[in-house]
Formats: sequence, C-alpha cells, structure tokens
Amino acid sequence: MPQIGCHLSCAKGFLHMGNEALSIGAGTFQFFTRNPRGGAAKPLDEADIAAYRALAAERGIGPVIAHAPYTLNACAAEESLRTFARDTMRDDLRRLTKLPGNFYNFHPGSHVKQGVETGILRIAETLNAVLPEAGETTVLLETMAGKGSEVGGRFEELRAIIDRVEQPERLGVCFDTCHVFDAGYDIVNDLDGVLAAFDRTIGLARLRAVHLNDSMNPLGSHKDRHACLGAGHIGLEALLRIVRHPAFDGLPFALETPNDLAGYAREIALVRQALQGGTSIE
Ligand code: FE
Ligand code: FE
Ligand code: ZN
Repeated sequence: MPQIGCHLSCAKGFLHMGNEALSIGAGTFQFFTRNPRGGAAKPLDEADIAAYRALAAERGIGPVIAHAPYTLNACAAEESLRTFARDTMRDDLRRLTKLPGNFYNFHPGSHVKQGVETGILRIAETLNAVLPEAGETTVLLETMAGKGSEVGGRFEELRAIIDRVEQPERLGVCFDTCHVFDAGYDIVNDLDGVLAAFDRTIGLARLRAVHLNDSMNPLGSHKDRHACLGAGHIGLEALLRIVRHPAFDGLPFALETPNDLAGYAREIALVRQALQGGTSIE
C-alpha cells in the first residue's frame, strides 16, 4: 500500500506538519527545506523534532520527502552558483540526519548552454561532494519535464548521473507524473511501456517516491504546469492506475497539485478510495 500525502508548509515546524498531515488523512508529506527563493534555513528546534519523531512513530507517518529549493542549480556554469548549491545541499543533508530514514529530493539542474554532458558531469560532482554527509537519508533525483535546458527529462540522463556518483547506494529517483508526461513519456496509454523503459535505463529498484500531479499541458509539451487530479491531460483514470500499479507499491506519494488543505484532503480521500478496491471512481 503506498503512503499518500501532499506538499505542506514547513513554516510552523515538524510537529505541526505531522498533525496537519493526519488531519487531512495523509500518511506522508513533503516540505521545502528552506524558502525556495533563498535565504538561510531556520535553526532546527530539537524539541519540535523530538515531538514530531514520537508522533510519526506512533501514527506511522512517513517516510517523508524534504524538497531542496528549486532555485538551486547543481550544474550552473558560474562556479559561485554551483558552490551555493553544494553548500545548501550539504547543510540540508546535515540537518536531515536528525530525521533519519527519509528522502531528500532535488531538481538535477539546468545546463544553460553548457550542453547536457557537462551538466551531467557537474551534477555528479556536486553529489559526490555532498553524499558523504547524507547519513541515512536517501537523495532523490527528480524526473524533470525537460523545460528549457533542464537535465533529467530523459531517463538516460538520470542514469548517466547515477553512473558517475561514487556512492550510488545513497541515490534514488522521484517519479513526478506531470514532469514525466510533459517530457514525452506516455503514462496515459502505455504505463507499462514507460515503466519498462525506466527499468531498462535506471532500474525499478531506484524508484523511491512519486509526485502525483495531473498536467495542464499535453504529452511532450515540456511545460511543467501541475493540475489537480483529473483536471489535466493525464486524467484521473491514468493517475489512479499509477497509484494501484505494483511497481509503485509501498512508496510515498506526494500531491503537488494547486490546492489548499481542504482540496488536498479531497484528493487524498479519492486516492485512498481507489486503493481500497474501489473500481469505479467516476
Ligand atoms: Fe520538484
Ligand atoms: Fe515534483
Ligand atoms: Zn513541477
């Protein structure tokens, strides 16, 4: 059974996120490690972490997904930007050692005219610098829509990064349904074909988390605009097929749909209903 949850604001700390998740029927959640627009992370509140860990153990929350700021670029052409990405990721990973056994997801980066090969090398270089600090956190490369010069829109690119990392056992992949579809993988008409390609290229054992989103744009649009479940070009039926597919069994699913908390609660209920043997969702 997958764990279903959604993206939550981390502004009020971990215990608050844990309780908020429970209040909307979620078994997991995702949060930004810091303000995506930059700036320092708040100092960790040890009492909050301890209270959250007790709640998570008691109620079976998690594993959860910490999301790196999406403004980081681990393969930026400018060295100072790469240094910033590396230092931020290292700091995030050090902090996450207080919450062992969870995930740290990041967008591989944009090569911005350097070419995808250089991008891949630089992302691997950044990972090699930060992974020794990862402790019991698994670092996830997110599948990307291939917008602009994004690296990670092709499974082969993620594989090439993994191949250049010295501690590949610390890496996994987060499958974002909107991004994969926008990148041109037809998860609507050929989910098994896409998963077979993923398995051949990356290996299904690396599949560790899912971002469950519909897409505002058609297959292969390279746009990356998320829609609510059933309100986009992927559609509810195809999304629920993913939720029920054995390849995703037991993984944390985080909704990143344009919703408020009540909207998330409704989508989580919809997904749960589908999992509990509900055949018709219409
Ligand atoms: Fe993301
Ligand atoms: Fe995502
Ligand atoms: Zn996205």
